[in-house]
Amino acid sequence: MGLLSGPDRSEVAPKPAERTVLKKFHSARYLHALKKAAGGHWGAEALSMGIGTGDCPIFSDMYDYSAMAAGGSVMGAELLLSGGADAAFNPSGGLHHAGTERASGFCYMNDVALACIVLAEAGKKVLYLDIDVHHGDGVAYAFYERNDVMTISLHQNPRTLFPGTGFANEIGTGEGKGYCVNVPLPIGTYDEAYMKAFEAVALPLIKAFGPDVFVLQLGADALGGDPLAQLSLTNNTYGDVIGHVVSFDRPILAAGGGGYDIDNTVRAWAFAWSLLAGAEHDVLRDKPIAVGKQQRDAVEPAIEAVIKAVKANVFGLHGLQ
Ligand SMILES: [Zn+2]
Repeated sequence: MGLLSGPDRSEVAPKPAERTVLKKFHSARYLHALKKAAGGHWGAEALSMGIGTGDCPIFSDMYDYSAMAAGGSVMGAELLLSGGADAAFNPSGGLHHAGTERASGFCYMNDVALACIVLAEAGKKVLYLDIDVHHGDGVAYAFYERNDVMTISLHQNPRTLFPGTGFANEIGTGEGKGYCVNVPLPIGTYDEAYMKAFEAVALPLIKAFGPDVFVLQLGADALGGDPLAQLSLTNNTYGDVIGHVVSFDRPILAAGGGGYDIDNTVRAWAFAWSLLAGAEHDVLRDKPIAVGKQQRDAVEPAIEAVIKAVKANVFGLHGLQ
């Protein structure tokens, strides 16, 4: 569709993230275990860090693959810092579940946490926005005590979905209190209900924070029909969220994430990039998904409740009503 080239667009080959960069987030012990496991050496210590589980199996290129995915996001962050790009997209990134010393949820290295660290080290106020259907736990907890990176995650209610965290009362601690925002959404959440929550809580908080740069995790598993989750969004919501972010006129690093209906995911990310690149292709938009009365009646009160909870927990800390 001509979206990867042109006078002001290009594809950039990523370089694998160096060990010194990976150590900004991951422990030496963990990186060592990951590399050893990739070489066929695996035992109880690696297993205790989530390596070699059902969700995070061992494969021979796991270290190199993960370092390449991380390198893509780090390179994107560096391009924003150098002024080499206003927007960058790493569809292979968004591996938001990986912890300092933990493989989790198909994620071995947390490229988005690393990108946020690189940007924060350059003195930038970073707004991390995660619209994957799962809680962005690895990133949220990486910055749980910091106020230079605000994390906002909208996701399916953790009572009904992996990883079981991301409740509205998880708001950060110490200096980071109020800089971790979680918006758990009920099963069946549809476009209009999602945008109501986004506009009621995420937008005012982003404005109050005043970020220098955005990091977006665009997991496409919140789309209706995803086999791993139960939200009912179309990619029009992804477009609306990106439209709001673009309106802040700040550099944007976008990453992929989950997305297990492959056709829908490919279309959502192509659509997302078309918007970030200023070359919107309406043909990539999803058709609306019909919403029944029963669904509306189930979703609406839960959305109202989560808006109320987030406002009560976080707004006062930012001088918002
Ligand atoms: Zn996900």
